[in-house]
Amino acid sequence: MTIFKKIIDKEIPADIVYEDDLCLAFNDINPQAPTHVLLIPKKVIASMAEVEKAEQDLLGFLMVKAAEIAKAAGLSEDGYRLVVNTRENAGQEVPHLHIHILGGRKFSWPPG
Ligand code: 5GP
Repeated sequence: MTIFKKIIDKEIPADIVYEDDLCLAFNDINPQAPTHVLLIPKKVIASMAEVEKAEQDLLGFLMVKAAEIAKAAGLSEDGYRLVVNTRENAGQEVPHLHIHILGGRKFSWPPG
């Protein structure tokens, strides 16, 4: 069981900023920007590499929710970055699909 599943199940605490039946959003414990929220589906999906067509509604829902959370955090006007690290080459540490919502500063491109 991953740490994110334990957060979903309220076995360990997190600084939750949004929750509904399908998803949970909470502040990253090691923020990389002034705003750094993790948005996760409650359904256990290890990464984008495990996503199947049956998940298309859920993934669309999560993207819309990410935009809503970013807007509520005041990030829409200046902009923000969404990141979905996938498996080893991207440095994914927690094998439960998550969208990083990063904002409050400028980000460089290309990413490191
Ligand atoms: P990844 O590298 O898998 O894309 O990102 C995992 C993220 O989860 C990291 O930014 C890390 O700081 C965050 N994280 C890991 N463990 C915890 C935790 O127990 N609580 C919270 N809030 N964030 C965590």
